[in-house]
Amino acid sequence: MRPLKKAHKLDNVCYDIRGPIMQKAYEMEAEGQRIIKLNIGNVAAFDFEVPEEMEHDLIANLPKAAGYTDSKGIFSARKAIMHYTQRKNIKGVTLEDIIIGNGVSELIGFAMHALLNDGDEVLVPMPDYPLWTASTTLAGGTAVHYLCDEEKGWAPSIEDIRAKVTPKTKAIVVINPNNPTGALYSNETLLQIIEVAREFGLVVMADEIYDRVVYDGHEHTAIASLADDVFFISMNGLSKNYRACGYRAGWMVLSGAKEAAQDYIEGLVMLASMRLCANAPAQHTIQTALGGYQSIDDLVAPNGRLARQRDLAYELICAIPGVTCVKPKAAMYLFPKLDPKIYPIQNDQDFVLEFLETEKVLLVQGTGFNWHAHDHLRFVFLSHEEQLREAIGRFARFLQMYRER
Ligand code: PLP
Repeated sequence: MRPLKKAHKLDNVCYDIRGPIMQKAYEMEAEGQRIIKLNIGNVAAFDFEVPEEMEHDLIANLPKAAGYTDSKGIFSARKAIMHYTQRKNIKGVTLEDIIIGNGVSELIGFAMHALLNDGDEVLVPMPDYPLWTASTTLAGGTAVHYLCDEEKGWAPSIEDIRAKVTPKTKAIVVINPNNPTGALYSNETLLQIIEVAREFGLVVMADEIYDRVVYDGHEHTAIASLADDVFFISMNGLSKNYRACGYRAGWMVLSGAKEAAQDYIEGLVMLASMRLCANAPAQHTIQTALGGYQSIDDLVAPNGRLARQRDLAYELICAIPGVTCVKPKAAMYLFPKLDPKIYPIQNDQDFVLEFLETEKVLLVQGTGFNWHAHDHLRFVFLSHEEQLREAIGRFARFLQMYRER
């Protein structure tokens, strides 16, 4: 048989979080080596359990969940999501404005495929959660990266956003709280982004999947709550706040200038129909997740487990010579900088690979998040304190070796 080649549309599509370095780690594990994995925000894998009530409802509803559901999702789940939008002050959302998907991941694909013609541009943050760039590219668009400014706590640079708008720009992606930086944006920043979207007629795509994983008493504002004359797609799901990423349940909420977006919305609904429906058993847990008392609040409270792990990881990383980090206000990641004068890294993927082979700890390199320089790495701080100490201790030892060679 002739060799089978992948399609050209995949040529520039990258998703390094599960890329070649992770494959290498699997191979090492298969050989019997033990790897500490600080590479993926898989909450459930670190003893953060799914709330018991959700598990109960998943099991109790299983007999009812064998058939296809409405393509937009079951009534009780969409009703609960609608109520959640009311709690977040997003106005005018009806049941018809909600589409449930197999995780936010699937819905990011819908949002891009339904919108983009070849060559259309999308403003995507840099660094970003790389699925946004990958999905833009796969849909035939061009991701134009706008700078999030480390000097300003990783806030989006409004000047850079403005400078990068062209007649081809269709949308702006806002990841808030942010992966990989842990930033939480101020209302002022959000309003400035809305102002740009309003001026140039852009769709605002808001990824708010970490909206309850917020530390130090900070509050998250849904960007869609701040205007009703711009079209917003707000995304959220069970994966992070409710520790159930394996359930594969996420949702998109359409709000604001819906009239103007009717044709686009038809496209979104068509894509949802073509895949029939989202995973039905998981949909039965959405009402429980959003309506129950259970949440991640206890974990992010000052002495909650995640908050303690964030503090520990932050302190240990910042104590390493030549390493600086903005303290995350939200989410579960640290994105430290390695001073290029002390660590002149030519290729951060090679650097992460060498660290894996030498110290058996798996991280993701900054360029995997479309960061422009080879001077950042992402640490996931979901591991228990003891393992975090061990992994960051090995990182400090590796950097010392790097400095001395
Ligand atoms: N959006 C962001 C910012 C993420 O960090 C992730 C997963 O890490 C996702 C979306 C994917 O979410 P889901 O599990 O709902 O597909």
